[in-house]
Amino acid sequence: MPQIQQLSPHVADLIAAGEVVERPASVAKELLENAIDAGASAIVTEIERGGLTYLRITDNGCGIAPQQLPTAFLRHATSKLRTADDLAAIGTLGFRGEALAAISAVSHVDIFSRERESETGAMLHLDGGVAGEVTDTGCPEGTTICVRDLFFNTPARMKFMKKDSAEGSAVTGIVTHLALSHPDISFKLLRDGAEVLHTPGDGQLLSAIYAAMGRDFARSLLPVHGCGGEISVEGFITQPLSGHGTRGKQVFFVNGRFVKSQLLAAALEEAYRNRMLKGKFPGCVLHITLPTTQVDVNVHPAKTVVKFLSDRAVFDAVYHTVLDALDHDKMPPAKKTEPSFYQKMTVTEFREKTAEVEKKPLGSYVSRPVMPVKPGVSPETPVDKPLYLHDVSVDKPKTFTAPTAKTGVSYEITPPAKKAEPITLPEPEQVTMEAKKEAPWRIVGEVLKTYIICEDEGGAMYLIDKHAAHERIRFDKLKESTEPLMAQMLLMPIAVTLSDEEYSIVLENFDTLREFGFACEDFGGSTVLLREIPADILTGDAAATVEELAQKLVLGRADPAGARDELLHTMACKSAIKAGMTTDRSEMAALVEKVQSGEIQYCPHGRPVCVRLTQYEIEKMFKRA
Ligand code: ADP
Ligand code: MG
Repeated sequence: MPQIQQLSPHVADLIAAGEVVERPASVAKELLENAIDAGASAIVTEIERGGLTYLRITDNGCGIAPQQLPTAFLRHATSKLRTADDLAAIGTLGFRGEALAAISAVSHVDIFSRERESETGAMLHLDGGVAGEVTDTGCPEGTTICVRDLFFNTPARMKFMKKDSAEGSAVTGIVTHLALSHPDISFKLLRDGAEVLHTPGDGQLLSAIYAAMGRDFARSLLPVHGCGGEISVEGFITQPLSGHGTRGKQVFFVNGRFVKSQLLAAALEEAYRNRMLKGKFPGCVLHITLPTTQVDVNVHPAKTVVKFLSDRAVFDAVYHTVLDALDHDKMPPAKKTEPSFYQKMTVTEFREKTAEVEKKPLGSYVSRPVMPVKPGVSPETPVDKPLYLHDVSVDKPKTFTAPTAKTGVSYEITPPAKKAEPITLPEPEQVTMEAKKEAPWRIVGEVLKTYIICEDEGGAMYLIDKHAAHERIRFDKLKESTEPLMAQMLLMPIAVTLSDEEYSIVLENFDTLREFGFACEDFGGSTVLLREIPADILTGDAAATVEELAQKLVLGRADPAGARDELLHTMACKSAIKAGMTTDRSEMAALVEKVQSGEIQYCPHGRPVCVRLTQYEIEKMFKRA
């Protein structure tokens, strides 16, 4: 008969460790959250081999008193939770009081800590959770925790670890998300000695995005703020023309916690419907804040799932806020028409500026030489690394300012880039015009029977894709209209033969087709007869249009709302003036006026309708500038 025994505390710790300490990234998350809770304004994370052999986190927070060091590593030891009631109003990130116990149970830990305003600090070493003696030592204010050889005593767990690179990326993900949810804290991450991230901690979300997600991404953003009831939505979203190939750049936080949520992604993407190319996804960094009573706080704190009391309310808040931001972008404030980064400078200034960037040494963004050994750290201390401790308070990258300009954001750059960018021709801008009383653009003519060329009085040239522009106008009109489309009777009906699936769905949707101006009749044998067609569709296009509508009806079975827009796309496209067709002057003038007014920007598929080239950009092409 097996004997029932109480587990030894050590084994119990190992089991508990399984819950919190899944992989290096979960260790990093717990330790970083502790540093944040300790009020740090700068936190450095260093990892080697994905964090498996070495993971060190240094903060400049409140520190831990020497006599409290061993206590912090006891199970259920926490300074953050006193009663069960506190649980309901949890403000800090960690609240289980077992992270340090669990982490130290499966690794070798060194902790150095000095309280603010204390003369000296103290250090403690633990092996597999067994603590040594606390010794006084000199160290910077704040706490440094170094975790080595994670899972050295739990080989079973070790087996689950992915390649070092995957573990390292998971740690990078954690640091990135915390940096984006705490723009007021400077985060730095060194991976095998190389700096991979360094945020300035200047309190600006955009600065954190710039440093954590890259310059190109940061430059493509539009600001978002709004709320629906008690749900506030703040942050940045990509401009419709800067879509990404995946959803990887969608980052959501709910009450400061990074979450993965299909609901939030769907709300975001729905707002871009008809503005973004098919197969492209918007990126974002959005902070959603709502009363704690409206989110389920009981989901596992280490997990990234979230449950809302009302999915609908959250969806609507995100959808409408994003939609507003996108619509607002159509009618930009006067600031947006200021000259761009390039135009603001003379050629000489531009050259000098770029040369400066090239000359500049790696600069403040790059890892500074490590701090010298601090006095008082005894060489016997069981750390086999060069013994240095960061003083993170003096280790911040410079801040940059990010004034908004025409393309959303342009930077007065304190160059965070490691190497200077080559001077490339600026991308022609897509135009966002204010509705202003300016002189109408002069229509120079048309090229390739597709593009209308115009110029304004300020020395800029515009290329307008006439089909795309007209398609957008048609689409908006169709979408607004409540009347069925004007139809014309045909002298001879047109027969359209369809696949079985298309045929049966067309039979079910005669009414919808009638709204679009098609009067159809069942002819049997998978064929329908068109008796009337919309007035602005060429007779020769009618059959192809019905086939396309039928295909879209089939595809859209699952999503009727989306299907309707798809049908409108087809109608707009087929009734719009076409590339390759000659367009008369008055038609051109009408299109140009709409584009100049800023009313239309993208075709319904998300392609730009107009690009703008400034005199300076043209002169650059000819090497005159
Ligand atoms: P919890 O964070 O849930 O309280 P932990 O095991 O993570 O539990 O930490 C235990 C305690 O150790 C914390 O409550 C806090 O008082 C202290 N502590 C941990 N890390 C730090 C740190 N970086 N700076 C200051 N105090 C810390
Ligand atoms: Mg904690």
